[in-house]
Amino acid sequence: MRILVTGGAGFIGSHLCDRLLADGHEVIAMDNLITGSTDNIAHLAGNRRFKFIHHDVTDYIYVPGRLDAVMHLASPASPVDFDRIPIQILKVGSLGTHNTLGLAWGKAARFLLASTSEVYGDPLVHPQPESYWGNVNPIGVRGVYDEAKRFAEAITMAYHRIHAVDTRIIRIFNTYGPRMRLDDGRVVPNFIGQALQGRPLTVYGDGGQTRSFCYVSDLVDGMVRLLMSDETGPVNIGNPLEVSIRTFAETINRLTGNAGGIVYRPLPADDPKQRRPDITRARTLLGWEPQVGLEDGLARTIEYFRARMQP
Ligand code: NAD
Ligand code: UDP
Repeated sequence: MRILVTGGAGFIGSHLCDRLLADGHEVIAMDNLITGSTDNIAHLAGNRRFKFIHHDVTDYIYVPGRLDAVMHLASPASPVDFDRIPIQILKVGSLGTHNTLGLAWGKAARFLLASTSEVYGDPLVHPQPESYWGNVNPIGVRGVYDEAKRFAEAITMAYHRIHAVDTRIIRIFNTYGPRMRLDDGRVVPNFIGQALQGRPLTVYGDGGQTRSFCYVSDLVDGMVRLLMSDETGPVNIGNPLEVSIRTFAETINRLTGNAGGIVYRPLPADDPKQRRPDITRARTLLGWEPQVGLEDGLARTIEYFRARMQP
């Protein structure tokens, strides 16, 4: 297949490009580098089945030739960016999704939207099944991301219903691994960066809030399975192992041998109290199950950051 990956120079997008190339596909990565980096795809330079286009998908998208699939991952994703670049987030979720859907329609290509567990907001149903409509504050700081992704899901379904575009929606839960930016602001790079410098880990609130962390190779495998399936309804992909942020910090201190301990900082507004995917649909429809355990995935991620932080 000839596949366009928007956000292809980002953390997940670059791993997806690697996987698609390994599967024998031709890949075009499109990215404006607002939170991504060409470092993530530098190893692909010279691969004749790979091409990079520097472009902002909120502007009209032109791709010459045939396309079999459009995988739309372009969007900043760190809560730090919700304060820093909220309008860019709203634009890429709305205008960017509109443009990429129009492209998929014009090329008769399959379309996959990278949505998020944030569509469930601060969930009142636990664990979260795809049938849950969510609990989102539209005017809060996280609203720019949550509502952009909810709009993106809505317009994806509209193109499916009105223009018969062959669409897929993946709801991604917290994913981590090599190629996250050290200064990205999300909990995994923050904690590992702090631990490798011997500093205390900054736990927000009392650390009782929970998350479920999925290693990037597992996520990418679920994404490819969904693309190749016939499933148009949303599918959660994430690791159902749920941990409190306090326990997570203790685990990272243990795995890195950090004696710096933990410091507590104020909890950001609307920070979801609990998050765990119900992956029944992924299991039954895609035969998907995460393979990489938390400590194994963290060890690989710690190695990546250790190498990057060496002077
Ligand atoms: P990332 O910031 O590393 O990657 C996003 C990429 O999109 C970056 O390379 C960025 O430069 C690019 N981008 C942003 N706006 C763009 C625009 N207007 N035009 C072109 N490119 C643009 O983040 P990530 O963690 O790899 O996230 C990838 C996707 O997965 C996002 O859509 C995100 O919402 C979704 N997601 C990620 C997670 C996670 O835990 N990592 C969880 C849920 C959903
Ligand atoms: N968090 C934390 N310390 C940090 C960064 C994040 O305690 O240095 C917490 C954050 O408040 C949230 C969880 O870790 O409860 C996951 O945060 P992240 O930014 O990775 O993404 P989220 O799941 O909130 O979108």
